[in-house]
Amino acid sequence: MALRVGLVGWRGMVGSVLMQRMSTERDFDNIDTTFFSTSTAGKPAPMIQGCKSFDPLLQDGNDVNKLKGMDAIITCQGGDYTKSIYAPLRAAGWKGHWIDASKILRMNDNAIIILDPINMPVIKTALSKGITDWIGGNCTVSCMLMGVGALYKAGLVEWMQTSTYQAASGGGAPNMRELLTQYGALYAEVKDLLNDPASAILEIDRRVTAKQNAFTPEETANFRGIPLGGNLIPWIDADREDGTSLEEWKGGAETNKIMGIANKVLGSSDAPIPIDSTCIRVGAMRCHSQSLTFKLKKNVPLADIEQMIANDNPWAKFVPNNRVDTEKQLTPAVVSGTMNIPVGRVRKLAMGPEYLGAFTVGDQLLWGAAEPLRRMLRIIQGDIA
Ligand code: NAP
Repeated sequence: MALRVGLVGWRGMVGSVLMQRMSTERDFDNIDTTFFSTSTAGKPAPMIQGCKSFDPLLQDGNDVNKLKGMDAIITCQGGDYTKSIYAPLRAAGWKGHWIDASKILRMNDNAIIILDPINMPVIKTALSKGITDWIGGNCTVSCMLMGVGALYKAGLVEWMQTSTYQAASGGGAPNMRELLTQYGALYAEVKDLLNDPASAILEIDRRVTAKQNAFTPEETANFRGIPLGGNLIPWIDADREDGTSLEEWKGGAETNKIMGIANKVLGSSDAPIPIDSTCIRVGAMRCHSQSLTFKLKKNVPLADIEQMIANDNPWAKFVPNNRVDTEKQLTPAVVSGTMNIPVGRVRKLAMGPEYLGAFTVGDQLLWGAAEPLRRMLRIIQGDIA
C-alpha cells in the first residue's frame, strides 16, 4: 500500500521549491498525497505536475484527527505551526514520521537532523532505533557539509572557522522583494547621472549612500530597519548575549549533531568539534556562500584533499583554485537554482601545513531546505539506501 503523506506549508517559499523537486523526481508516483493548509482549508488541492491528490480538497492543517491518518507528514509551514501541532499530534497517539523544515525540534534528543549524503549512517541507526522525527538542518550548515563533509567523515577536522555570506532568501520571500526594491530605488536615485558619462562618480556614490541611509522603516522592514541593497549586515538571527548570534551557534551545534558526534540517542560520546562562525547577510538572492578555515588533525597532501571533496557525493564539485575557474563556477549567480555545491579556493594556508582554506556556495532553498526533506521520504520508503 502506498504511504499516506500529508503536506503542510507546500505553498510557501521552501514548500514551493519542495513541490518542484518532488514533481521533478516523481516522488508523487508512489505516495497518496493529502494537502493541508492552515488558512485555506476546503479550497481545491493544488495542481502539481505528477501529483494526483488523494484528497481533492485542502484539509485543515490544525485538524489533529485528519493529520493522524497520515503515515508521514512533511511540514514547511514554519516554527509556530510545529510548536502548536506537533505535541498534540503525538499526544493523540500518532506514531508516523514527522519531517520538518523548521528549527523547533532540531536539537531534541529524539530528533535527527537529516542530510543523508553526509549522515546516512546516523539516519539508518536512528531508523533502526524507531526514531520518527526528521528535521531539516540550518541552511548554511547543510550547504557547508554538502561541500566539505568529506573532511568531517574522515575525522580530519580539529576545528573550523567560517565567515558566511548569506542570501536574502534566508529571511523569507518578503526579504528577497525588499532587497530588489532597494536596488531599484538606489538605481532610480542616480539614473540621470549614470546616463551622463561626464558625471562625477563621487556624486553618484554620495547620492547612493544618502539614499541608503534615508530609506523609510517600511522600505527596510524585513531587515530590522537596515538597508541590504549595496550593503551587508554582519548579524543574523537572535543575539545570544555572549558575543554570538543564534545563527553562529547553529554552525557548531548542528554540524556536530548532523555528524552524530556526542549524540545521546545514538550513544556516541566523542568530544564536539569546535566550530566558530561569523554570519553575514549580503545582497545575494538565494545562495549562501562561506569562506572556511580548517585546522586539520594532520598534514594531508592537497591533492588528496581535493580528491576527497570531489568524490564525496554527486553534488559536491571541486573547483580548481585559479582565477578563471573560480570566477566561472564559484559564484551565487551561477549556482542559484542548481543542486551543485561547488568547493573552491582550496589551499594550504600560511599558518602551517595543517591549515586549510576553502570557499563554497550552495542554493539554500535546495540542499539548504527542501532537498533533505523529500529525500527522507524516499529513505523511509526504502528508495534511497
Ligand atoms: P513562508 O514562505 O512564509 O510560507 C509558510 C506558509 O505561510 C505557507 O506554506 C502558507 O501556509 C502561509 N502563507 C500565508 N500567506 C502566504 C502567501 N501569500 N504565499 C505563500 N504562503 C503563504 O515560509 P518559508 O520561508 O517557506 O519557511 C518555512 C519553514 O522553513 C520555516 O520554518 C523556515 O524557518 C524554514 N526554512 C526556511 C528557509 C528559508 O530559506 N526561507 C530555509 C530552511 C528552512 P498555509 O497554506 O497554511 O496558509
